[in-house]
Amino acid sequence: MKCRHCNNNLTHVFCDLQTCPPSNAMVKLDNVNSPEIYYPLKVFVCEKCWLVQVDEIEKAENIFNDEYTYFSSYSSSWLAHAKNYVDEMTERFRYNPDSMVIEIASNDGYLLQYFKEKNIPVLGIEPTANTASLAKNKGIESIVDYFGSKLASEKLLAKADLILGNNVLAHVPDINDFVKGVKLALKANGVNTFEFPHICNLVQHNQFDTIYHEHFSYLSFTALKSVFEKQGLEFFDVQELPTHGGSLRIFAKHKEDTSKEVLPSVANMLKLEKDLGVNTSKYYQGFQEKVEKIKFDFLHFLIQSKKEDKKVVGYGAAAKGNTLLNFCGIKGADLISFVIDASPFKQGKFLPGSRIPVLAESSLKEYCPDYIIIFPWNLKTEISQQLNYVRDWGARFVIAIPELTIF
Ligand SMILES: [Zn+2]
Repeated sequence: MKCRHCNNNLTHVFCDLQTCPPSNAMVKLDNVNSPEIYYPLKVFVCEKCWLVQVDEIEKAENIFNDEYTYFSSYSSSWLAHAKNYVDEMTERFRYNPDSMVIEIASNDGYLLQYFKEKNIPVLGIEPTANTASLAKNKGIESIVDYFGSKLASEKLLAKADLILGNNVLAHVPDINDFVKGVKLALKANGVNTFEFPHICNLVQHNQFDTIYHEHFSYLSFTALKSVFEKQGLEFFDVQELPTHGGSLRIFAKHKEDTSKEVLPSVANMLKLEKDLGVNTSKYYQGFQEKVEKIKFDFLHFLIQSKKEDKKVVGYGAAAKGNTLLNFCGIKGADLISFVIDASPFKQGKFLPGSRIPVLAESSLKEYCPDYIIIFPWNLKTEISQQLNYVRDWGARFVIAIPELTIF
């Protein structure tokens, strides 16, 4: 296997999560007697450019199809995050009715709706037709396609004052072509921002459940700088965000654009990563052992609870939980009776691989579980507050990552 950025031979395995089905491929009731396809999930680190990556075993088209059930608007904290971003960017770069904002992976219009409220023209790019049609209902025009140099040169050439993408960069198989598309679509003085989970948090806090087939790359600022520079783009700012367990928001511009000063945050972030050792092999060693310890602790908790006749359920039928459950080899509802999810698109279906049923929140009160595992640990405060009423019957919450914790 070759590095998707620099074509170097990849030999250093960072983490091997064995095999599992695509994390967002929920199983419908009609399909419970059908087989599922399992793909290897092995992550490599390139020892030349330090891009951490999985092989593109499944074509992206087969993962992001109309069965894709991730709708951004179902998380209230994520909507608040989107609104804050829009306010901050409009203030800083003075966007107005003559500007053009393009969002890549615009989903159901969860973010662009806030630019639209300010009368700033927007365009969404979204490969899944079912999410894009929800955006259209909000009056947000979307191109249903994958973003890359082809789409940019055909339809978006030098159009954008702002190109943004949240949690999309990691999902791109051909990251070089994708960033080339940004270069093409950006106006001469345009700004590009991307948000993505910072690999330093993945390594430091054992966030191995953020690894799944839809995530082709796990990004450091150092590795990404090399990808952007190759296409003639330059970082001029970077911010650290608490989202998804610790993310970065990068700000890029054309290298030729001298109207913006490169802020000290860029050199500071490079130094921070260098001090951690991001550009050394040693930094990526020992992760597999940490991940296996989480697996054994989690299984021990589930089996112990079963022996004590405790009732265990999960909350959040999203990719993170599926990576954990499949890596732990959990099958069926004998250890975890069901998983609660707020999205009606997921209720009545089964988790990929483990086939645990997904139910609406009302089932909690009927079942009165002793333990509720919060799979999206990054939202543990929000979710445990929202479900505070379960304390009435003495239920407790559980997270498995960064280490097994009952609270
Ligand atoms: Zn490389």
